[in-house]
Amino acid sequence: MNGKTRVVVLGGGYAGVMAANRLAGSRQAPAVEVTLVDPGPHFTERIRLHQLAAGTRDGTGVDWAEVLHPQVRHVRSRAVSIDAEARIVALAHVEPVHFDWLIYAVGSGEQPTPLLSVTDTTVARTTRDTIAGLPTGATVTIAGAGPTGVEVACAVAVSRPDLSITVVAPAGLTHPLTAHPAVARRLHRLGITVEDGRVDRGTGAVTTADGHCRPAARAVLWTVGLATPRLAADSGLPVSGDARLMVDATLTVPGRERILGAGDAVAVQGLAGRHLRASCASALPMGAHAADTVLARLAGRTPDAIDIGYLLQCLDLGAGHGHVQAVRPDDTARRWALAGRAGGWAKEQVCRMTLTWLAREARSPGSFTWPSGPAVSVH
Ligand SMILES: Cc1cc2nc3c(=O)[nH]c(=O)nc-3n(C[C@H](O)[C@H](O)[C@H](O)COP(=O)(O)OP(=O)(O)OC[C@H]3O[C@@H](n4cnc5c(N)ncnc54)[C@H](O)[C@@H]3O)c2cc1C
Repeated sequence: MNGKTRVVVLGGGYAGVMAANRLAGSRQAPAVEVTLVDPGPHFTERIRLHQLAAGTRDGTGVDWAEVLHPQVRHVRSRAVSIDAEARIVALAHVEPVHFDWLIYAVGSGEQPTPLLSVTDTTVARTTRDTIAGLPTGATVTIAGAGPTGVEVACAVAVSRPDLSITVVAPAGLTHPLTAHPAVARRLHRLGITVEDGRVDRGTGAVTTADGHCRPAARAVLWTVGLATPRLAADSGLPVSGDARLMVDATLTVPGRERILGAGDAVAVQGLAGRHLRASCASALPMGAHAADTVLARLAGRTPDAIDIGYLLQCLDLGAGHGHVQAVRPDDTARRWALAGRAGGWAKEQVCRMTLTWLAREARSPGSFTWPSGPAVSVH
C-alpha cells in the first residue's frame, strides 16, 4: 500500500482507456493509482475488425503506449470475479488486484456460435484465414444486415470479388443506417445479394422468407446481436436481462457507490440512457464520464448525470467508399448524408479520431468533450 486511492479499470477498450487516461491525468492524480486490466497485447481498434476479417487490413492492434497515459499501470490479464464487499478482483494467472474504486468496461462479444464472426481479434483472424482459403466461386453467407453485416460483406467483396456473397436477414436492409438507398446501390455494385431469410446460428443453414431451406454456404459469418461478458452477473452484481451491469445516470451501480461502469457492458437505467446504443460513439463519452464521477466523489462533489448525444452514424463500404448519416442527439436520422468516396473519406476520419481522442486525453486529460444528449437539445 502506498496510501494512494486505487482505481481499477476492467477492460482496455474505448471506454476503459478513456476512463483510465482521464483519471491518470487529473488534478487528483498524484493521490490516485490507476490500474487497467486487459488481456490484450495491445489496444484493439475494434471498429476495424471487419477489415481484418476480410483481409483488407493486416492488423487492428495499436501499442498501449500510443493510447494510454504513461502513469496507468497495465496488467495483462482477464478479470475472473469481482468481490464487491472485499473490493478485490481475481485475475487469471496473476495476483488479484484491490480497489477503492472500480470501473467496469469489459465491452461486448459474440453470441455463442460455431460460425465465423468478426467481434474480436481471434475470431476475425480465423475468418480471414477461411475467406483467404476459399476457391473461386465459393458461396459466402453473411448473417445480419445491420452495420457490421454490411461492412463485412463489402470488405469481403473487395478482397475476394471472385466469391458469391449473400447478406441474409429477416427483412433485408431495414436497419435505419443500412436501409439508405445509397447503401443498397453500393452492395449491388459489389455484386452482393441481399436476401430475406434467417440463418441458423448453429448450422449456418438458411431458411428464406418463402420457407425454402438450403444448407450452409462454404463460409457463414454471424454478425447478429452482441453478447455481454458474464463477469458482473457471475460476481453477483445487478445486471439487466442480457447480463449488462446496471448503472444509474452517473454510471454508478445502485447501492454500490464505489463500482461504476461504461461502454457496451453496461445498461444505463432511466431517461439519460434510453437512446444509447452499443457503440464506440457511446463508449468514449461514457468512459470519460465514469472517470468524472469518481473524481467528483473524491473531491466531495455530487457527480453529474450523463448527457450524451450523437452526431453521426458511419458505415465503411469498402475500398474507400462509405456512408455517413447525420443524426440528431437522440440518434434519429437527419436528412443529410454523405455517400460514395466522400462518405468513405469521412468515415475514415471518424475512425482515426477515436484514436486521436484517446491519445490526446492521455496527453491533456480533460480535453475530450462530446455533444449533449437529447434532453438538453430538445428543451
Ligand atoms: C466489426 C465492428 C465494427 C464496428 N464499427 C463501429 C462503428 O463504426 N462505430 C461505432 O460506434 N461502433 C462500432 N462498433 C462497435 C464498437 O466497436 C463497440 O461498441 C465498442 O468497441 C465498445 O467499446 P467498449 O470499450 O465498451 O468495449 P470494447 O472495445 O469491446 O473493449 C472491451 C475490452 O475489455 C476486454 N475484456 C473483456 N473481458 C475482460 C475481462 N474479464 N477482464 C479484463 N478485460 C476484459 C476486452 O479484451 C476488450 O479489450 C463495431 C464493432 C465491430 C465488431
